[in-house]
Amino acid sequence: MAMIDEILALKKERQATILAHNYQIPEVQDIADHVGDSLELSRVAAGLDSEVIIFCGVDFMAETAAILSPKKKVVQPAKGAWCPMAHMIKPEQLQDLKALHPEAAVVSYVNSTAEIKALSDICCTSANGVQVVASLPEKEVIFVPDRNLAAYVARHTDKKIIPWNGYCYVHDHLTTEQVKDARKEHPQAEVLVHPECRPEVIDMADFVYSTAGMGRHAKSSEATQFIIGTETGMIHRLKKENPNKQFYPLNKNAICQNMKKTDLEKVLSALKTLQPQVTVPEEIGRKAKIAIDNMLAVKV
Ligand code: SF4
Repeated sequence: MAMIDEILALKKERQATILAHNYQIPEVQDIADHVGDSLELSRVAAGLDSEVIIFCGVDFMAETAAILSPKKKVVQPAKGAWCPMAHMIKPEQLQDLKALHPEAAVVSYVNSTAEIKALSDICCTSANGVQVVASLPEKEVIFVPDRNLAAYVARHTDKKIIPWNGYCYVHDHLTTEQVKDARKEHPQAEVLVHPECRPEVIDMADFVYSTAGMGRHAKSSEATQFIIGTETGMIHRLKKENPNKQFYPLNKNAICQNMKKTDLEKVLSALKTLQPQVTVPEEIGRKAKIAIDNMLAVKV
């Protein structure tokens, strides 16, 4: 039996749901029940009837699904697929920052570990960071771990943003030179970039969107060509959803190695063994869930 057929049959037998992040390889996106960004997928995970969730993404995403759905089995097919940015701040470092700024609220980007979320007042995503900060009564906000998303949020608020110096190496490596070159090559195209990009790259873009926002914009825009400033996996979804439009990566080497660790063999093995399973210690999960739920309550 072809591997895809075997995956689909086993998925049915296990009553499992396969979730895949927008940056996964095309083959994995194509066998998934839902493809989206980390927030979309967590929301889906929380509302599922399935007992088993196969989460094709990196560690913090599977953890977030496990926090929101503690009774379900969350399996991450690629063991050790992790987000370097999420691990750029340790709980002790956040504790120290909180002690330095006792009046400040703590906002953690969902791209953070469960321990960091558990120490935060509220989470945010790249889609709702501005609204989350605006929803807080505090005038000072500790924002971890992404310095670029913090800088983007700081543009849209009068509050004092206290950033951590973390970054996503994939987005932080996108440059203004690449934007100039891409515009020269595709002068009709709109430039969409992710808020994890550096401020000077954001300054040159036509639009700044999370991956979910890029998906919506590509569908509704009258433009037919787009330069996409995020991880290249996103191009597959955009092309599939908009077959008559053209999408060009801002940098074809913008590849997150950890996102590419999941393949069909690993998905099949995860369905067979229900391993490696992702769990979060109960107390950490309980506190982290409060921060995530606080975010989900913010209207965007
Ligand atoms: S693309 Fe960046 S933020 Fe996303 S998982 Fe990879 S390193 Fe982390």
